[in-house]
Amino acid sequence: MSEIRKHYFLDEHCIIATGRAKRPSAPEACSAGKNSSSCVFCRGQEDKTPPATAVYKGGHVLRDTGDQRVTGWDVRCIPNMYPALSPDAPELVKPEFEALQGYGFHEVIIEHPAHDSRLHLFSDEGMLLLMQVYRDRVMHYGTQEGIKYVSLFKNWGKKAGASIEHTHSQLIALPVMPAYVQRELDAIKSLEKCPYCDMIGKEKNGRRQVYSNGHFIVIAPYCSGVPYELWVIPLKHVHHLSGFTREMLSSLGDCLRFAISRLDATIPGLAYNYMFFQTEDYRDYHLNLRIQPVTSVAAGFERGTGIYINTMPPEIAVEHLLEKA
Ligand SMILES: [Zn+2]
Ligand SMILES: [Zn+2]
Repeated sequence: MSEIRKHYFLDEHCIIATGRAKRPSAPEACSAGKNSSSCVFCRGQEDKTPPATAVYKGGHVLRDTGDQRVTGWDVRCIPNMYPALSPDAPELVKPEFEALQGYGFHEVIIEHPAHDSRLHLFSDEGMLLLMQVYRDRVMHYGTQEGIKYVSLFKNWGKKAGASIEHTHSQLIALPVMPAYVQRELDAIKSLEKCPYCDMIGKEKNGRRQVYSNGHFIVIAPYCSGVPYELWVIPLKHVHHLSGFTREMLSSLGDCLRFAISRLDATIPGLAYNYMFFQTEDYRDYHLNLRIQPVTSVAAGFERGTGIYINTMPPEIAVEHLLEKA
């Protein structure tokens, strides 16, 4: 059971979720080639997880029903076994301060059936399928009653918060707009033109550009909080994944795979998070995907100020990433 508590006086929230304390803990490293017969995300172990909400298999989208499990899948979406939020959360009884019931959805997207699969080694088809799944699932949860924001993200490596080694992404659909996102929307409302479109104009073909294809640019942002931070931004102003064509999804997969493969080539086994930023209703927002490697923990100064000390200038990071590329 969980609840969404509001800050004493700011429009900020936290989720108190006691059930998540029971999560398994991942092995120290996500080492390639290692197989785990006890992994509940592996193909063949479907009965060890709740029924899938969507199963992608051979170009079709299926679902598990009752005790029946779809086998031989390509991508499998299941409810998180230790959800931060849940659709059947009970009403809160007289909270001490302002709080909401822990209503929402928490899904796991198992990106590949094989335990030793690694995102940067996915085929073109595998990347395109994953991007299509991302679009489908974000759109699905965005239309559920009471949902204000859908957070789509991936944790890779124990240091980055992954509790299961098998490659997967997650989605949490929230009944509140996160303050972190709202702050950007408010800033954009006060501007005459889109700051992301402006950013593309300034960074394209510049020294912080890591990669570009027909539809996207990958840059190490000027104000990088962590070493090797990368942003993937569509060249066209699009506010949400629902506006992506098949061609754009394919290009997005190409950029994401390129970025992760360069990070892994530069620091093998690097732990990272990536997060999609997008809004369903606010068309002035410009979707972007941020990849943040985890090389150190946020300490007192970072927590006390929100200012991150980064020892790797993005301009040098780009040189390292593109060495021998
Ligand atoms: Zn596995
Ligand atoms: Zn824009």
